[in-house]
Amino acid sequence: MEKILVTGGAGFIGSHTVVALQESGYEVVIADNLSNSDEMVVSQIKKITKIDPVFEKIDLTCTKDTVRLFEVHKPDAVIHFASYKAVGESVQKPLSYYFNNITSLLNVLDGMRHVGCERIIFSSSCTVYGIPDELPVTEKFPRKKACSPYGNTKKISEDILADAVYAAFHNDRELPLKAVSLRYFNPTGAHPSALIGELPLGVPNNLMPYITQTAAGIRPVLNVFGNDYNTPDGTCIRDYIHVCDLAEAHVLALKYNKVSSFVEMFNIGTGRGYSVLEVIKSFEKMSGVHLNYEFAPRRRGDVEKIWSSPAKAEELLNWKAYRSLDDMTETAWKWQLAVLSA
Ligand code: UDP
Repeated sequence: MEKILVTGGAGFIGSHTVVALQESGYEVVIADNLSNSDEMVVSQIKKITKIDPVFEKIDLTCTKDTVRLFEVHKPDAVIHFASYKAVGESVQKPLSYYFNNITSLLNVLDGMRHVGCERIIFSSSCTVYGIPDELPVTEKFPRKKACSPYGNTKKISEDILADAVYAAFHNDRELPLKAVSLRYFNPTGAHPSALIGELPLGVPNNLMPYITQTAAGIRPVLNVFGNDYNTPDGTCIRDYIHVCDLAEAHVLALKYNKVSSFVEMFNIGTGRGYSVLEVIKSFEKMSGVHLNYEFAPRRRGDVEKIWSSPAKAEELLNWKAYRSLDDMTETAWKWQLAVLSA
């Protein structure tokens, strides 16, 4: 049984990935500092899979603690989710974002080298593409200047991995390093059990938690940012991807075991875009709740439309997104109701 270290495994995407890993027969060690998650998630995972993941509360910016984590657990591979992820906050606190996101990646790579661990899956984002010149976006598209320090940490992390993989490939004394970077489009939805889901701290930035909190009466109204875009209904278009489909991509990426001189990048999206109004319509249909929303000015920095070509992941990882937008809105709502009644 392979042992996988999942950093940030108590977070939104991390927790769903831990479930998918355990269900596929992997042994999991979660490392999380709980800065944006709750330890209760670990027991919720156990309720779903009946398997207790090992949990280590650890700050990966501490080199000594990170190396010790690797020495104790000696993982076969790492899935590295742990990072700060709020775009707006990253503009306010850039140094904290650079320090946390970059230092933790460097420490993880150092820990891997210490124990001879060769495989890492990195959690990247479609934000590296900026405003794409064409649609759908393929992995061959150039990366653009990042719109926020958060986005820049993803770009820099991909560069660090690229240099580390290249050096390992060309230097006989180094261990091979096999790195896969998964560029997520818009992850949303929740596990169908409603035992785990997204737990935004404070006022949500993302569309789906804002929708479910408005429907639940926590927020008075959803502002739809802009209805004058060059799209069929005037609202922005995104490639929303169910978090359980996304989780399965990580399991398949672990099996992708090619030694090469570069980091293999994969878009993880459905290949289909939906507008904000289409998401609202799906939510109302699946929840039976009328949503109070109004049009508001455009949000600064928003891309008009973006969706992926997931063809490369389909071909090389044998992965495909199966869940629909209705599955996403339905599970997100079930999760919101579960949080309310907890
Ligand atoms: N959005 C919105 N109201 C909100 C939050 C988001 O209209 O309260 C829109 C946003 O302008 C974008 C889409 O929903 O067009 C997805 O935004 P989100 O922040 O979820 O993801 P992003 O693609 O910006 O990372």
